[in-house]
Amino acid sequence: MSNGSSSGGFSEVPEAGQRERNWEILRCGATEALKFVILSDQVTGHSLHFYGGRSKPCSRPGCCEGCENGNMARWYGYLGAHAVRGHDLAVVEITAGVAERFQEARRKFGTLRGLRCRLERRGKRREGKLIATFLPANVALDELPVSINVLRMMCRVWEIPEQLSVPRELLSQALNLGNKREGGAK
Ligand SMILES: [Zn+2]
Repeated sequence: MSNGSSSGGFSEVPEAGQRERNWEILRCGATEALKFVILSDQVTGHSLHFYGGRSKPCSRPGCCEGCENGNMARWYGYLGAHAVRGHDLAVVEITAGVAERFQEARRKFGTLRGLRCRLERRGKRREGKLIATFLPANVALDELPVSINVLRMMCRVWEIPEQLSVPRELLSQALNLGNKREGGAK
């Protein structure tokens, strides 16, 4: 009867969250550069714990299971990407160490959307620091596919309500923690 808002049981259309799929999350490997067109306007990141074979968002020390288990949280960022490793659409994961480069590129170009990005590992080592290079968009932005809603997808992956997602100020704090504090980072 209702338009798919009931949980459980039969419904005419799927619930809103189920209409969107979880796109593959791609990471830059040791030797092969990851090249893609960015679809997101900006990076969406969160501090994460890795335990029990998966990542779980840190809800902050003092009220977080991961922290209580003595698990260190590390920040990771996510972007909607186009034309990457044979996928039309996917999500690319970046580390804290390269997040500032994305922030700079966003400042310089006004948006990340449309930029062509190349990610590679310093020294072609598995744990090598990520290096990002950016080229300006070579297509009109409205000709690009609509971006993936990364925040919504990651909330689904981590099974947290979207309302609990990190406000923008906390996100930029996390970005600054990832910096090497060179000069005038705010
Ligand atoms: Zn935690």
